[in-house]
Parts: sequence; C-alpha cells; structure tokens
Amino acid sequence: MENIVRCPICENKQLADMMQVEDYFLTHESFHLSKCSRCGFLITNPRPVASDLSKYYQSTDYLSHSKKKKSATSMLYNLVKNYSLGKKYQLITRFKTPGILLDIGSATGEFLHYFNKKNWTVTGIEPAETPRGFSIETYGLHVLQEEKIDQLPAGHFDVVTLWHVLEHVPDLNGRMEQISKLLAPDGLLVIALPNHLSWDAQHYGNYWAGYDVPRHLYHFTPDTISKLLSKHGFEIFKTEPMKFDAYYVSLLSEKYQSGKSNFLAAFRNGLKSNKSAKHRNANYSSLIYLAKKINN
Ligand SMILES: [Zn+2]
Repeated sequence: MENIVRCPICENKQLADMMQVEDYFLTHESFHLSKCSRCGFLITNPRPVASDLSKYYQSTDYLSHSKKKKSATSMLYNLVKNYSLGKKYQLITRFKTPGILLDIGSATGEFLHYFNKKNWTVTGIEPAETPRGFSIETYGLHVLQEEKIDQLPAGHFDVVTLWHVLEHVPDLNGRMEQISKLLAPDGLLVIALPNHLSWDAQHYGNYWAGYDVPRHLYHFTPDTISKLLSKHGFEIFKTEPMKFDAYYVSLLSEKYQSGKSNFLAAFRNGLKSNKSAKHRNANYSSLIYLAKKINN
C-alpha cells in the first residue's frame, strides 16, 4: 500500500480521514477516503501500489458488461451504452467537425468505432490487454498500450476524451501534462466523472457504487475537477449531465447494500437524483466536462 501525503491538486499536506468504503465489486477489502483540508479533494488513501492495481481489475465482469453475460443489469448497461454513444457524438460535434480524436482508456473500442464510421481519425490508449485486443480484432482500430502515449505527436489531436477514466489514473498530474501536450492549441478536452455530491451518493453513503475503491483513486466534484484543470491550463466551458448513470449507479448500489437487484428502488432513486440535480444544484450522479486551453 502507498500512503499519499500531499494533495495531488493543491499540494497541501493536511489530509483528513473521512470514511471507510468496501470494494463490493471484487475483493471486499476495505479502503479509506481522505479529504484535503484546503481544496476539498477526496482521494482513496492509502491505496494499492501501482504494480498491485491490476489485481483489482481481474474480474471477467469488466469486459462481460459489453460482450458475455445476459443478466438484466448488463442488458440495461448495453442499452444505455448504445444510446450514450449517439449522445456523446452529438455533444462533441456541436463543437468540433470531424478531425483527429484520442480516447484514453478506450476499453473495447465502441466509442472509437462510432467516430471512425463518421470519418474521424481515431486512436485509443488502453492498458488492459483483453479489451485492447478485442477492439483491434473486432473493429480494426488503432489502439495502443499505455506506455506508447509518450510517442504520440504533440499538438496533434483535435479532441481528447476520457470516459470515466481519469479517476483510475495513478499519476494524475503526469497524465494531465501529457494530455495538454497532445491536444492542439484549440483542441477540445472531454472528461466524464462520477460526482460524490450527487443525491444518489449522499443517499447510499458507503454503499455508493461511484466510489468503486480501489479502482477509483480519486473522487471528483465539479469544483475539484475545475481546480485540477485550471492548474494545467484548462478551463471548463460546459458541463453536461449523464442522467442514465444515476439509475445504473443506484442499481449497483442497491445490490451492494442489500445483495439484491432492486430495480424499482434503483429507478426511484435514480429519478430522485436527477430531479434533485435539475432543480437545485446540478450535482448529477455523473457529469461530462468540456474544457479548452486557457487563452484560446
Ligand atoms: Zn488540495
């Protein structure tokens, strides 16, 4: 285990233990979350050392969501995924015409494949061998191992996307520097993240599936992602909700809490979360942040 002694965003050394969360998804080990007393950033601390992290991904579930099992949960997941691809395309093409796109953490490649079909030139980065191999064989995509990110040409990409990926990356500042280097001066950065200030996060507490420890090393809010981005020369110009995530995360959280798939309760709580965000604070369960380089 590795103890984090400085806040990755503001370098402050005062990190207070906030809560204990279990890895309900895989190992049932317990982890702690600590919060920076200055900027409020919430992190998994201590966390497994980088070389140990892969064992927390060794479940067939991460891939089978898209390909294998036909459980009600994974069918719902697939339905939403296909709908979301269209929504993501619409969102990005409001700001960018077809160009060159890099997706970091491209998983099984459906997002890249969608853009590729619409005349975008696409590249993926995917550390896990199985999904990377799948995306290359099934869709003929250009998907590289994580180490290859440093060999990509600087200023080359019109769009860089990270869909529920940044919260998994151990070297947060190093990765942000790479992204800043790769993105064209007028490029678009798209980051999707869970938001622990959402109604569903407050409701489920320690059982909230969006914590997903220790795979999620960082737990962002609209405020903390904005601080991280501004530290690296970016500003958020638009924030979009991912409304389906409230239902999906509620369904998983129900399962963690009761051991059962309570569809009705999950639906009710997903609805409540979206309603609360809409009427009060815009703290949706997951949010998409669109950012550009400052001075551009
Ligand atoms: Zn801080």
